[in-house]
Amino acid sequence: LSGENEHFSQTDREIEKALRPLSFDDFTGQQKIVDNIQVFVLAAKKRGEPLDHVLLHGPPGLGKTTLSHIIANELESSLKITSGPVLDKPSDLAGLLTNLEQGDVLFIDEIHRLNAVVEEYLYSAMEDFRIDIMLDSGPNARSVQISLNPFTLIGATTRSGLLTSPLRARFGINARLEYYDSKLLTTIVTRSANILGAPIDEVAAYEIARRSRGTPRIANTLLRRTRDFADIKGNGTITLDIAKMGLDALDVDENGLDEMDNRILMTIIDKFKGGPVGISTIATACGEEGETIEEVYEPFLIQEGYLKRTSRGRVATELAYKHLNIRPNFGGQT
Ligand code: ADP
Repeated sequence: LSGENEHFSQTDREIEKALRPLSFDDFTGQQKIVDNIQVFVLAAKKRGEPLDHVLLHGPPGLGKTTLSHIIANELESSLKITSGPVLDKPSDLAGLLTNLEQGDVLFIDEIHRLNAVVEEYLYSAMEDFRIDIMLDSGPNARSVQISLNPFTLIGATTRSGLLTSPLRARFGINARLEYYDSKLLTTIVTRSANILGAPIDEVAAYEIARRSRGTPRIANTLLRRTRDFADIKGNGTITLDIAKMGLDALDVDENGLDEMDNRILMTIIDKFKGGPVGISTIATACGEEGETIEEVYEPFLIQEGYLKRTSRGRVATELAYKHLNIRPNFGGQT
């Protein structure tokens, strides 16, 4: 399951699009955030103003992009999508901004990866709906001010800690998406199965849900793979047995940890006596990017109580030892 963000094929993308909720009513969970944003959207519409800028943070696959589509839909405006690393130069940003219509929503994914120069330009755009562009260079250099149509920026980030404070301060609405519990994910799996026309037993939906690392995107991926098992190894219906067979084949264990989760825990315990050990050391030993470990794996392992963050590095908890069936050896050196 690792790296599934990058390795989407065309059909994957199409299916993901089909499964994407289009309205607040379709969007399961994150209730408080949804309730609040609904009020802000209605208020903005009532006053005929653009919605305040929105910052959405949380691990990948929890619905940041989906929510942005919904917000734009509900505002009856269009959504332009880009991402931090893509906006290389101020002119890339200027091009986008000057093309926005009144009330449009601009979505910048991975906004923590904007480079400093582009970010600087964004400040006046967000605050005063204008940008200053430098024409020419050297003695002929002069700046012209361009006013923009009032718009809403939605920034998404997996690492809100990496956002600069001037940027963070320019968002009037700030929401942190949380991992979903198994009950909410069961609803999502059932809804997706319906859209895909895949018959699924309730217990099977729950089994997939509870082993999806609290993440709708993973739940949908696991649903589609177990559906393959149902079609090939079963009679088309995703039963509990079929779901278990599929999940085991995909190396998703009983507690929903995937292969990389387990590799990380095993590395800390086996190679570093349970920690504390730094993230880059873990990354090298596991053959995974440190950034990915911090964004994708670690938050879940911490939330589930397998891993602890200390000032000296990451430490495997008793639960991690138990999970891997290893007897802790706390008697010796610490
Ligand atoms: P992010 O932008 O946070 O990485 P996405 O918005 O792309 O996550 O969500 C990934 C997929 O998970 C979407 O295609 C959507 O089908 C599904 N999804 C996310 N959140 C929900 C939700 N609350 N209800 C139903 N499906 C969801």
